Amino acid sequence: MSDKPQGFDTLQVHAGASPDAATGARQVPIYQSTAFVFRDADHAAALFNLQEVGYIYSRLTNPTVAALADRITALEGGAGGICCSSGHAAQIMALFPLMEPGRNIVAATKLYGGTVQQFTNTIRKFGWSCKFVDLDDLDALKAAIDDDTRAVFCEAIANPGGYVTDLPAVAAVADAAGVPLIVDNTSATPYLCRPIEHGATLVVHSTTKYLTGNGTVTGGAVIDSGKFDWSASGKFPSLSAEEPAYHGLKFHEALGPMAFTFHSIAVGLRDLGMTMNPQGAHYTLMGIETLSLRMRKHVENAVKVANWLEADPRIEKVTYAGLESSPYFDRAKRVCPEGAGALFTFAVKGGYDACVKLVDNVELFSHVANLGDARSLIIHSASTTHRQLTDAQRAAAGAEPNVVRVSIGIEEADDIIADLDQALTKAAIRAA
Ligand SMILES: *Cc1c(COP(=O)(O)O)cnc(C)c1O
Repeated sequence: MSDKPQGFDTLQVHAGASPDAATGARQVPIYQSTAFVFRDADHAAALFNLQEVGYIYSRLTNPTVAALADRITALEGGAGGICCSSGHAAQIMALFPLMEPGRNIVAATKLYGGTVQQFTNTIRKFGWSCKFVDLDDLDALKAAIDDDTRAVFCEAIANPGGYVTDLPAVAAVADAAGVPLIVDNTSATPYLCRPIEHGATLVVHSTTKYLTGNGTVTGGAVIDSGKFDWSASGKFPSLSAEEPAYHGLKFHEALGPMAFTFHSIAVGLRDLGMTMNPQGAHYTLMGIETLSLRMRKHVENAVKVANWLEADPRIEKVTYAGLESSPYFDRAKRVCPEGAGALFTFAVKGGYDACVKLVDNVELFSHVANLGDARSLIIHSASTTHRQLTDAQRAAAGAEPNVVRVSIGIEEADDIIADLDQALTKAAIRAA
C-alpha cells in the first residue's frame, strides 16, 4: 500500500478492522465473549502490566468494541480512543481522569439539555462543579477559568441547533490557561468537523446519533488527540503522578500520547464499568460505513428545508448556520467546511400552543427525543428535553417556548417540506 493517508470515505469502511485472523471473516465478528484465554501466566502478567496490548475481560476491552473505537479515532484524527455505553457515559469518562473533588469545568451555555442537567446537578455528587458561560464572550471564558478548572467543554455544532462554536478561538483560551478543551462532536460528526484540527484535546460522542445513524443502540466514545502535556503542571495527578488506582503507575511517563486512553481502560472502564457491549458496537460499525454519504444528504436536505421555512410567512425565524442570514454562516464555513449539520430550530408564529399542535400533526416526521437518525425527527424542546431547565437556561440554550427543533433526515427533501407544510396548516398557524 502507498504511504498516502487514506481518505475519510475509505477510513469509515476499513479503519480498525482487518479480516478475522482465525476465520477470514470479512465483516468484524461480534465477539460475544466475556473473557479471553491467556496463552500462559507470563502473558496474563504482561497484559495486566499494560506491557502488551490484548484482551482480558469485556468490561475493559473487547475486539468488536475496539474495532469501533479505532475507527472513530481514525476519523477524528486522534491518538487513541475508547467506546462506552452512552454519550452521557462518555462525558463522565472524559472528565474522570482530569477531576478530583473541589475541581470545576467551564462549559458552554448552548448544550444538549441532558448535558446541562448532568453538569448542573449530577456531577456535584462527585464533588465536581460546572460554570456555564457564553463562548462567544471570550473574556467571560477567560474570567471563568480559575485555579481549580480542569477542562473547558463545548459542542462543535451546538444543540438544539443553529450555533457553531469558534473552536480555534476557544481552544486558544483553554491552551493559554493550561487546561484541555473537550468538544462534544455528536451533532457535527467527524465528517463535518474535526475538532482536534481546531485545537481540541478530547472529543466525545454520543454514537447513538449520526455515527450509528439508524436509531438502534445507545453508545458513546472518547477520543484523545494525544497532544496535551499532562505533566506540564501539577493539575492532572491521575495521569502525571503515581496513580494509586493502578499500582502506582505514572501513566503519562509510561505511555506518552496513549496515557489518557490507557487510563480510561485500566481505571475508568475497570472501575466505573460504563462499557459498550459488542452487539451494540456491531450496529454502530454497520452504520458508520456510510457516515459521509448520509451526512452529505442530511446537509443537502437541511439547507433546502431551512430555506423553505425561512421564506414561509408562518415562520418567525429559522436558526440554521447553513443559512446565509445566520450570524454563524461564515464561522460554520471555517469550523465545519462540509456543512453546518442537519439540526436546527425554527420559531413558529402562535407560540407554545402552535408548536404543540405542529408536533401533533406531523406524519413523515417522528415526534421523538432523539436526533441524528436517518429519519426526520421533530421535538418541542421547551416541553420535553429542556423541560427541567429554568426559563433562563432554556433561553440561553436556544429552547424558547415558541421554538421547535428538527433533525432533518435523508428522505426526499420535497417530502420533508410537504409534511411540514401540511402540519403547519393543520396547526392553523396563520401568517400574522
Ligand atoms: C444525545 C446526546 C448526548 C447524550 O448521549 P446519549 O447517547 O443519549 O447518552 C450528548 N450530547 C449530545 C450533543 C447529544 O445529542
